[in-house]
Amino acid sequence: MKVAELEKPGSLRVKSKPLRALGADEVLIKIESCGLCGTDLHIVEGTSRSTPPVVLGHEYAGFVTDPGKNPKGIPEGTHVAVDPNIPCGRCSYCRRGLVHFCTRLRALGVDIDGGMAEYSIVPASQLYAIPHGMTAEESMFIEPVSCAVHGMDRAGIRAGDIVVILGGGTIGLVMLQLVRHGGAAAVILSEPLSHKRKVAADLGASLVIDPAGDTLRQAVMDTSGIGADVVIDCAGTASTARTAIDLARRGGTVLFFGVCPIGETIPLEPNAVYFRELTIVGSYVNPYTFPRAIALLRGGVVRVAPLDVRAYPIEGVHDALASLRDGRALKNMIVPGS
Ligand SMILES: [Zn+2]
Ligand SMILES: [Zn+2]
Repeated sequence: MKVAELEKPGSLRVKSKPLRALGADEVLIKIESCGLCGTDLHIVEGTSRSTPPVVLGHEYAGFVTDPGKNPKGIPEGTHVAVDPNIPCGRCSYCRRGLVHFCTRLRALGVDIDGGMAEYSIVPASQLYAIPHGMTAEESMFIEPVSCAVHGMDRAGIRAGDIVVILGGGTIGLVMLQLVRHGGAAAVILSEPLSHKRKVAADLGASLVIDPAGDTLRQAVMDTSGIGADVVIDCAGTASTARTAIDLARRGGTVLFFGVCPIGETIPLEPNAVYFRELTIVGSYVNPYTFPRAIALLRGGVVRVAPLDVRAYPIEGVHDALASLRDGRALKNMIVPGS
């Protein structure tokens, strides 16, 4: 079958790779759609960890074509989404219910062959049935939305909050929809690229700011008088991390959601955290959030049509990554045979 395999950091190749036999409790799925995101870019560039050689793709959905040997397994033809993060189930974190901290956590599309392929072999435990009527775009979006749902849990947004989102990429625009629906009184989104700002405005941001204009702080103060209740950094840069801390009100919360490169640092004044009683939290992947992500997409709370997802065949993976890297595209997906 055709796959996009990371041979080593810097070298992603479209090639033919044979399918191995199914192991116990494994299921074969025919890929319908597989999203590409910043993590894939970082993996290809070598700034995010992976275990090559590995077929990339961790945001995917498909149809069961071989349910394996388990007689109580998932029937052939079932439309399924894949949770790529596989915990061991036995380590000290897993036994505390903190599966995302599993000391032996492995991920499809990062450590094990993933979804940028015609077929994928997936442990049955990682599959979630997709309700009827969901599109290929929505199905592929379940994984990124599941991560945003964990971010919402971590941010603890309350009805009436003034929320700032830094970065209007895909995840910022998903977060915008969740925050609005979660009862925020105002959501101010900051994004340097004009086509992304337009989508943010269409999706109901109260105010959309171009950070180059340097009006963000003033806009936040004009809205709340004291700073933001919650600031969500969806951009993941040292600069936005600093801005996030700066914009939070006393007693406010800062969520680092966007993945800042490993080794990047910012100055932090402990006295400011003390005096302002800041809560600074992180959000890592998607523990137990797949069912809610499916419900949000199915219920139309998170809309993906305005994100203008573009489909590429497996052979188009380099083009798909390039247009993500330079910011032309908001979200791309691989659809085998498209
Ligand atoms: Zn991703
Ligand atoms: Zn574990």
